[in-house]
Amino acid sequence: RAKGAVGERICTYEPGMDETARQRRQLANDLRNAVDRHEFTLLYQPQRLLQTGELSGYEALLRWHHPRRGVISPNDFIPIAEETGEILTIGAWVLRQACIEAQHWPKEQKVAVNLSPVQFRQADLADTVRAILLETGLSPRRLELEITESAIIADKLRALHCLRQIKAMGVSVAIDDFGTGYSSLDTLHSFPFDKIKIDKSFLLRAENSAQARAIIRAVLALGKSLEIPVLAEGVETERQLEVLQKEGCEEAQGYYFGRPARAPSLSVSRAANS
Ligand code: C2E
Ligand code: MG
Ligand code: MG
Ligand code: MG
Repeated sequence: RAKGAVGERICTYEPGMDETARQRRQLANDLRNAVDRHEFTLLYQPQRLLQTGELSGYEALLRWHHPRRGVISPNDFIPIAEETGEILTIGAWVLRQACIEAQHWPKEQKVAVNLSPVQFRQADLADTVRAILLETGLSPRRLELEITESAIIADKLRALHCLRQIKAMGVSVAIDDFGTGYSSLDTLHSFPFDKIKIDKSFLLRAENSAQARAIIRAVLALGKSLEIPVLAEGVETERQLEVLQKEGCEEAQGYYFGRPARAPSLSVSRAANS
């Protein structure tokens, strides 16, 4: 497992520290050739509309097949790629690959692609997106970009400008991991998001925590008043689904509907109403 290779607890002056730093450097180094060596693949996880049960789209999730360590999770290598700047090359690959693969799907669902804050800070992001859409021929209506709150806080005006450029092309934008970041309600109100994705941590805690349930309800109410549809991430059980349906959540994604899988058609395990 890749876990422990990076992101381990860091204690100053412990013998293990050199090793951790060394492994991190090694991974950073390995990342530089990973695109050229075809070591990345995308998995797709279905997103379902809860009213109709309709499959609305798939989120593309990146996997790194490291030649010696096996499959490494994005949580373990994206931060390193962001530090070295390699995320720009990797991110462009993800976008292009997702657009190409989505063209082969039997139905014209949306493909949602995660953007790193580092990508989002590039002045030419909109140009990059436009070029990839042109090159691959994917309809902009089928592309959704997912950004986190951390991508917009640093320079709100610039972020707003960038979002508007992207939206003007017909591409939609979702705010990911909502509830875990720093953005104020005012930010949410002034940014033209098409979707709010409630972070999965709230749903995972919902059964045992009244507080987590209250936050889910609050985000749903917020979405209603701003007229932005809300998607709940991390739906694993039928009970969780029932709660979401009762509270009027529009859309959901999670292991209950399907794990991230190689081909979209294979990853649909259940219908919303079953
Ligand atoms: P995310 O965008 O919030 O993606 C959702 C994560 O939750 C995915 O983890 C997914 O596999 C996992 N998940 C989905 N349903 C469930 C569930 O029911 N229960 C639980 N426990 N987990 C569930 P994954 O694939 O490991 O990705 C982790 C994070 O890495 C993503 O979080 C995203 O922030 C980042 N990431 C993934 N692919 C890319 C990419 O292409 N570019 C960038 N910049 N980041 C990416
Ligand atoms: Mg995401
Ligand atoms: Mg998320
Ligand atoms: Mg996340």
